[in-house]
Amino acid sequence: MKKYRFTLFVFTLICISSSYNTDEYRIALGDRICIVKKTITQANALTLIALHDNENTAIEAFQSWTQQLNINLLELHQSDDRYLKCRYNNRDYCFDPNQVFSEKGIHNTLYEKNSSCPPELVRIIKAFADTLLNVFLNARYHQYMIAIHNNSPENFSVLSYKNSSNATAVFISKNEDIDDFYIVTDTSDFEYFKNMNLNVVLQSKDAEEDGSLSVYCQQNQIPYINIEAEHGHLNKQIEMIKIVYDLVSEKKG
Ligand SMILES: [Zn+2]
Repeated sequence: MKKYRFTLFVFTLICISSSYNTDEYRIALGDRICIVKKTITQANALTLIALHDNENTAIEAFQSWTQQLNINLLELHQSDDRYLKCRYNNRDYCFDPNQVFSEKGIHNTLYEKNSSCPPELVRIIKAFADTLLNVFLNARYHQYMIAIHNNSPENFSVLSYKNSSNATAVFISKNEDIDDFYIVTDTSDFEYFKNMNLNVVLQSKDAEEDGSLSVYCQQNQIPYINIEAEHGHLNKQIEMIKIVYDLVSEKKG
């Protein structure tokens, strides 16, 4: 019995030591809070960024791979909605967290999502975005910023970039679903995915300044990859994460 207890104790210890650490940053949004949930499987490993709180296939894909890949996750969380809310003078104002990385983007998303908006709000969201960027920049792996997103068939696909001034090049594979694709800022990464016959967009250096993380990275010479898959395409998104992991690991050498 004693031996059994000891074995159980050792087994429990191994389980604890092989599980990952979670931590969180709490960032103020007026009188509300946005949480950045941080899941660390290994210090200084490749980190994925999930900006939209309702895109859960991407999170499941990450969770399916943590043990094998040693990747980390930074995930924005407030109320499981795509949009975040900032509470100011007892009123909630909505905005898209993927439009806050420039003043123009903040202004556009606030005035698009709310019927009216006090000008002070731009400053509050800008402070939020600056804190968020610091967290993201500190978590980079081999300089890369890697985002994960999900889309629905009716709203966004690799075809959205066809003949668009936001893309320098677009490769559309005959074998792939148009909703599963990569967006990159580096030409050699574009070629890498293209050679694997996977859908990929090379974002233009003159892409519209919409406050997105992809445009921020492009303007600041930070290599960026978005792993974009349709909601529910779990196995595909796991495969896509694995390919990015191999690409960035190879580059790091
Ligand atoms: Zn998204």
